[in-house]
Amino acid sequence: MEKPELLEWLEAVEAAPLLARAEARVRAVFGDRIFIRGIVEFSNHCARNCFYCGLRAGNRDLVRYRMSPDEILESAGRVWTAGVRTLVLQSGDDLHYSREAICRLLKAVKERFPGMAVTLSLGERDPEDYRAFRDCGADRYLLKFETSNPALYRSLHPGQSLEHRFFLLKHLRRLGYQVGIGGIVGLPGQSLKDLAEDLRTVGDFQPEMVSFGPYLTHHQTPLAEAPNGSEALTLKMMALARLLAGRANMPVTTALATLDPSDGLTRGLRAGANVIMVNFTPEPRRFNYTIYDHKLRVDFEQVRIAAARAGRTVSMERGDAPIKEGKEKERQGED
Ligand code: SF4
Repeated sequence: MEKPELLEWLEAVEAAPLLARAEARVRAVFGDRIFIRGIVEFSNHCARNCFYCGLRAGNRDLVRYRMSPDEILESAGRVWTAGVRTLVLQSGDDLHYSREAICRLLKAVKERFPGMAVTLSLGERDPEDYRAFRDCGADRYLLKFETSNPALYRSLHPGQSLEHRFFLLKHLRRLGYQVGIGGIVGLPGQSLKDLAEDLRTVGDFQPEMVSFGPYLTHHQTPLAEAPNGSEALTLKMMALARLLAGRANMPVTTALATLDPSDGLTRGLRAGANVIMVNFTPEPRRFNYTIYDHKLRVDFEQVRIAAARAGRTVSMERGDAPIKEGKEKERQGED
């Protein structure tokens, strides 16, 4: 699909045929299975100042925390004991955790929990950090581009550029990570054309993981007055992403579940998602990992209900993205 067709779908009032196509596609690739990821948000410190995010450095009212390596490993142990075989380690852009510290952590996780896939979501780091993390066993890296409009990106992310983001994404790909990209739907100043371009970006990049979640406000940010993004539009973005990057793992974001606590998980699954993240950040830490207000804690009970409603089954396996034959070779030749 090219941009005009994508735009037509984004403008369309009737989304049911699109969602049905996406659901058929996800079932064709992954069957009925929904993969579960266990996420541990180990630090809410962040050096950046993204205008929409409650973790931004400029938010002096947030109670900050950093988990020690032992605490992180204890949480990883709970993920393992629950039977979940993908651990997602997430933080703000927090350089307090050095290259060596993250490597020690990765080695300990891999040693204690053999076979566990590790996804890192640590934001922008030195490219050599990514290489070291990969060498120490990291399997996947999430680095959403948030918006593919360079001017909008600049205006929302002081001191950062979309160009650098994609430089890092290509670097991650060359290092052999399964790479996750995606965006926010309903950012202040974002147009439907921008969203169509976001989708083209996904189609061109062919990531192993893709996610689109709604913009949700946080009351302690410069954008506190901006309205939340639309659930209907987010579902259309997810469905189109599924059609453009059919073999990628795609989560229902916690943001979508927060926007629609009663049915967001199910609706996301029906729009082409095949992954749900269950939160293992210990209390009271997780109450302060507030990228946006009223963040929902997704637990196993919610997953079971959503899976049953969507006619799907819950799988705890690693759930690597099926990589196209020859893709590794293609990667070697990429810039
Ligand atoms: S979006 Fe990420 S990088 Fe930006 S302020 Fe929030 S945690 Fe930091």
